[in-house]
Amino acid sequence: MKNKLINNPDIQYNTEKHPKIKGMQIIEGKSNFPISWLNQQGYCEYSLYLQYLKGIETVPTQAMITGTHEHQKLEDKLKEDAVPTTFKDVLETSKYEAAISREMYVVAPEFGIRGFIDEIWMTPDEFIIIDDKPGKIPYPSSINQVLAYCLAFKSMLNSSIAGQTTLTSITPDKRKVHGALREKGTDNIFWKTEFDEGNENNIKFLINRMHGLFEGSKPFLPTKNHNKCNKCRFQRYCEHF
Ligand code: SF4
Repeated sequence: MKNKLINNPDIQYNTEKHPKIKGMQIIEGKSNFPISWLNQQGYCEYSLYLQYLKGIETVPTQAMITGTHEHQKLEDKLKEDAVPTTFKDVLETSKYEAAISREMYVVAPEFGIRGFIDEIWMTPDEFIIIDDKPGKIPYPSSINQVLAYCLAFKSMLNSSIAGQTTLTSITPDKRKVHGALREKGTDNIFWKTEFDEGNENNIKFLINRMHGLFEGSKPFLPTKNHNKCNKCRFQRYCEHF
């Protein structure tokens, strides 16, 4: 597979900071949150409230520091021989020659989500969106995160097709999108699924819930799992601990 570094000069949306929620943006008039927040939502919704609405900052855990370091190593390695390209171009060339990229930015204003895909394989047959995780347990929170990347990627795919200029050049991309989880620092893909209609509906439902939390129409629920609380970096600020 060819290493590619995808730039997205075509992404030009009206973007501003949310006035009250740290990390939230308003893109094309709609609140837009980082997809990584879904991982935290699966751990404990209340921690989202403490971090982004109350603005509580904590020192990063050792796992977070190690994770960032390993991410950077992989990205640097890919950049050594990666060819710069654009999303539109790599969609075309990968129909004939498989490509691999890391840290690809995806944004879907209509769903209010954005983020960086750890690694993506674009082959003549399929797209595989990979999220690297410590360990090899497919937690629901990890699955939700990778499904949201799939949703944002699919939205960009459809926008790219819709953006083709002449009617004769409109060719729907029939390649299937898959989401996968990989054990960090290894080649071990321990979970993979097709991004089918069921998965799409499930993740849209959860994303709507997330917007409901931040808009105030739904309560941030604290976890009932004391083991999570015992490891939580927000415990000294949390009235549920
Ligand atoms: S201490 Fe427990 S309830 Fe409070 S934010 Fe952390 S995980 Fe959630």
